[in-house]
Amino acid sequence: MALTYDDVIAKYEPVLGLEVHVELGTESKMFCGCNTVFGAEPNTQTCPICLGLPGSLPVVNAKAIEYTVAVGGLRTAVSDGISGSLVDGHDPRAWSAVISRLLLEPQRRLLLSVGAIKHASHFGWEHTARKTLDVYDWASSQSEAKNLRAIN
Ligand SMILES: [Zn+2]
Repeated sequence: MALTYDDVIAKYEPVLGLEVHVELGTESKMFCGCNTVFGAEPNTQTCPICLGLPGSLPVVNAKAIEYTVAVGGLRTAVSDGISGSLVDGHDPRAWSAVISRLLLEPQRRLLLSVGAIKHASHFGWEHTARKTLDVYDWASSQSEAKNLRAIN
């Protein structure tokens, strides 16, 4: 006998997850030198590495790492000095100084750990959904503004 929607909701707890992907504007793939030309014929931008063939050796795309580091710490995810440490800019020396300080101050690491758990408790599905909708609203308003400019 098939369960009704209400039966399913009563019996199971819906658990939703978000998987977020970011496409970096690199000219080659993340782990090999194959092109990433949009619209190319299927299976024409492949090699033994990206096919995962035995014996192939992936090499990380340096440009992708550079772009990823440029994103930096997320202020929505980390409250600086309370749930973690944010580093301004992308100077490796600044990052090194912050990491060195954390390594030398176990009490600070403990406080940040406690703060991170408390900070994370504020996040949840409702909060995430609300913030996601805010981003879509913002992006939509930007797109509408851009279209209006194009019309005028
Ligand atoms: Zn490849």
